[in-house]
Amino acid sequence: MLSAEPVADAETVFDGGWIIPGLVDAHCHVGLGADGPTDFDEAVSQAETERDAGALLLRDAGSPVDTRSMDDREDLPRIIRAGRHLARPKRYIPRLPIDVEDESQLPTVVAEQARWGDGWVKLVGDWIDRGVGDLAPLWSDDVLVKAVAAAHAEGARVTAHVFGEDALPGLINAGIDCIEHGTGITDDVIESMLEHGTALVPTLVNIENFPDIAEAAAKYPTYAKHMRDLYASCSARVGAAYDAGVPIFAGTDAGGMVAHGRIADEVAALRTVGMSATAALGAACWDARAWLGRPALEHGASADLVCYAEDPRSPGVLSHPEMVLLRGRVYG
Ligand SMILES: [Zn+2]
Repeated sequence: MLSAEPVADAETVFDGGWIIPGLVDAHCHVGLGADGPTDFDEAVSQAETERDAGALLLRDAGSPVDTRSMDDREDLPRIIRAGRHLARPKRYIPRLPIDVEDESQLPTVVAEQARWGDGWVKLVGDWIDRGVGDLAPLWSDDVLVKAVAAAHAEGARVTAHVFGEDALPGLINAGIDCIEHGTGITDDVIESMLEHGTALVPTLVNIENFPDIAEAAAKYPTYAKHMRDLYASCSARVGAAYDAGVPIFAGTDAGGMVAHGRIADEVAALRTVGMSATAALGAACWDARAWLGRPALEHGASADLVCYAEDPRSPGVLSHPEMVLLRGRVYG
């Protein structure tokens, strides 16, 4: 535990460097790998990779694997679960989501996931509609209003995967708490996010996969072009959101197309859209902890810390912690 008072017989394990609260990956899938859902052992090894990179608090933005027993493991990062992804049939990556057959069932399913998880629910907000040949929203606006209200009634917040433009107004007007990716944000949407206090987790290291996604989707030229356009405008759009004051947090989207343990790369990517070194680190550390309602450096908090020989805001430092302390135990 952290103490603001001197501790008798304390042993010095780190001296003469920089110590920050455990890093936060605000969009991380434990139990999801390059080939889809993993077995439990691989999910554990993903969590260990995150720990060794200094990511000691993970917001799991949807996992097909039940990782709740990891909460009993002192050596693994803390996970805030959003339950399973909620999608409509054939409108997300196969084997990951709970498919909601009739969208009128969404508020009920959201309430179930809210009770199962750790304070978050994850919706798939848009995905390719193969009938249309382009990204399209999954849910009607009135259903979203009821679904978000159902989560809030359970004390949970809601976030949604959104790549394109069209799904954003309905989600934000319904009072959703966060948008994942958000490559389709326009100036109007930014205004609306500020009004509603909506956060953004842009997962910039995963957006780097958009050209490959477009390449693989040659059968759907409109969609492929849309993905390329979203990729081309991403930096400017996320930068505009940041400049306007939208709260932005660091998430890698590890699992699937992104390897685990890359939180430092996301912090570096946030610098490229105009965030200061301190703001970009805060988005993966103290600011993210405050947003998620978890302690940072305060008396009585768990000793979840990352130590660096040099200033972790300097290029290349964050990815190489000297030492990781989780629940007071030393790693690395
Ligand atoms: Zn994700």
